[in-house]
Amino acid sequence: MQIHRIGTTHRAARNATGALAARVGVVALCAALALPPSATAQTQTQPQAQPQTGAQTGTAPPATSTATALPREEVTLTRLDCGTAAPPADVSRFNDTFAWPRLVLQLVYSCYLVRHGDDYLLWDTGQSMAAGALAPKTSLVDQLAALRVRPEQVKYVAISHYHPDHTGQLASFPQATLLIGRADWDVLTAPARPGSTTAATFAAPFAHWISGAGKVEALPQDKDLFGNGAVVLLATPGHTPGHKSLLVRLRELGPVLITGDLAHFHENYESGGVPPFNTSRAETTASLDRFKKIATQLRATVIIQHDARDVSKLPAFPGAAR
Ligand SMILES: [Zn+2]
Repeated sequence: MQIHRIGTTHRAARNATGALAARVGVVALCAALALPPSATAQTQTQPQAQPQTGAQTGTAPPATSTATALPREEVTLTRLDCGTAAPPADVSRFNDTFAWPRLVLQLVYSCYLVRHGDDYLLWDTGQSMAAGALAPKTSLVDQLAALRVRPEQVKYVAISHYHPDHTGQLASFPQATLLIGRADWDVLTAPARPGSTTAATFAAPFAHWISGAGKVEALPQDKDLFGNGAVVLLATPGHTPGHKSLLVRLRELGPVLITGDLAHFHENYESGGVPPFNTSRAETTASLDRFKKIATQLRATVIIQHDARDVSKLPAFPGAAR
């Protein structure tokens, strides 16, 4: 059954278009697309770079002591519903050690709005409104309107990784600076290679930024976005080469760590389970190890973005954690 499913996805991927990518979903596509081995973990300190239009830039802020100091600005975190979940399903295909052979779970699609003073950051953009049964009931733009936030007020859109369930509504925020892992950006902007449909499959939502019309910060490392530790993009490669997770430090709730797709559900997070379609098993386990150490060190609330059991860790929309 498993083999049959994978074979099916291979065929699907060979014919993949952006629209299909959105409909088929990330798992099937990831399994089928033999992405190049991810870039190795970057350890060199890179000079701070300013956003550039349509360009790749490297930023590696110097180590700071901000992990222990609360920011002055008010910081809030709101969960947005970014897709219509399919019914609970067998998630055994997310584990490459035959663990959880019959584990049935409810997965969900989540995005997050971070307000830092007067600045807004959107973390992931969910399924496209054209994603058929998986499309959100309410668009991100309309959810933001309910929060009295206009699209042009969103200064940054940070993408955990390039899969279509995280990039579906990116195009609604062309004025925002795109924050993305540099190795993911490299995949999206790589010259077409015979037999590889990766860029063609995933790049469509990024067209505005790839064309040079939008600002991009392609991040090789962590990024302390405001320089005060309040919002930190964490380099957690493995699911994709440039995958990122997010740390938000709140005055009342305390530090919150949002996984992206570093893990898709608690059982894998806790056991170090790795989906066979990740681009690097070694990087995934190293990233999980680091992420868990940060969670322990900061006593953070960990939110596994696709796990329905973690939705209630934040106030229900339109409420915000503070
Ligand atoms: Zn995902």
